[in-house]
Amino acid sequence: MAENDVDALLLSTGPDMPWLIGYEAMALERLTMLVVPKDDDAKLVIPAFEIARVADRPEFDIVGWNETEDPIKIVVEALGGSAGSKRASAKKLAIGDHTWSRFLVELNDEMPAVNWVAARSVVGPLRRVKSEDEIASLQRAADGVDRVAAALQSGEIELIGRSEAEVSAELGRRILAEGHRKVNFAIVASGPNAASPHHHAGDRIIGPNEVVLCDFGGTTTELDGGPGYCSDITRCVYTGKPPAEFTEAYETLFEAQARGVAAATVGRPAGEVDREARHVMDEGGIGEWFLHRLGHGIGVEAHEDPYLVEGNTEPLEAGNAFSIEPGFYIEGKWGARIEDIVVAGQDGPRSLNKADHNLAIVEA
Ligand code: ZN
Ligand code: ZN
Ligand code: ZN
Repeated sequence: MAENDVDALLLSTGPDMPWLIGYEAMALERLTMLVVPKDDDAKLVIPAFEIARVADRPEFDIVGWNETEDPIKIVVEALGGSAGSKRASAKKLAIGDHTWSRFLVELNDEMPAVNWVAARSVVGPLRRVKSEDEIASLQRAADGVDRVAAALQSGEIELIGRSEAEVSAELGRRILAEGHRKVNFAIVASGPNAASPHHHAGDRIIGPNEVVLCDFGGTTTELDGGPGYCSDITRCVYTGKPPAEFTEAYETLFEAQARGVAAATVGRPAGEVDREARHVMDEGGIGEWFLHRLGHGIGVEAHEDPYLVEGNTEPLEAGNAFSIEPGFYIEGKWGARIEDIVVAGQDGPRSLNKADHNLAIVEA
């Protein structure tokens, strides 16, 4: 905050507050807001009847507000302004990226001179460097979805004759059974639907002799009541013998994914890692079908800093966790993607996901 000349940080709904204090506000119209002034004690402004949800926390003061009080005025007071004065001193305040705009608008009405910035500028550089504990949580999350992927690859999760939505629901149940408290997504894209990177699993019945792309993940349950960390994996299964054209493209994809992981070393600009994997796709003749960036950071949020995308010159740091997920998507025909979560460490990049990267074949 001092580096960014930010006077106070305001966090509410969204992942920043759980990341910082382990408490997740209910995403409702009743305001919960953690006020972190640069030079003063932090205060949690919270509906009075929800105080019981916050365990004994000496690191911040708890300010409950009753149903007939205005929590916006309480936040203004916590910032040192006098409520209702409209003359609160000009300040630079960082507000959570996911905080509802209605709260920001109401705060701005009370303090029109404030210079607002996104909290990402303060918490982003902190959140992207994971501690050992956070990496252990990400590893637990990855182990959970690896076991789901293995069930998919072995044929234990039936595909042929079922709808994408049914398979998606089964993936979701298994994600929860593997230590996650919620499912963030379970993409099941079969046949030509696999050409749509974020396909929404639908009524299409999975047939023989086609690709089934599955991309799924959730947020873990933390034993100590912490915020929970995300998993995210993509594997592909072919329901029969794949044609040579597909197998050849998949081999290039396999190579590009491995090259992307190997290139993700500490100090390397994030955009260069993308370029390295893309080069393999280009050489293999499928680069034009690789439609998206190579990867995204992951932590308490499924997508966060750093982004592995052309033009991002930020160097990877030890403790950065991100996906490496090249893919090819040919409209009307098919598609494939391989995705792992990788951690950059002083001793090199380390893939948290270990599920088989080969194209799994299940008998038609
Ligand atoms: Zn995606
Ligand atoms: Zn994914
Ligand atoms: Zn991803």
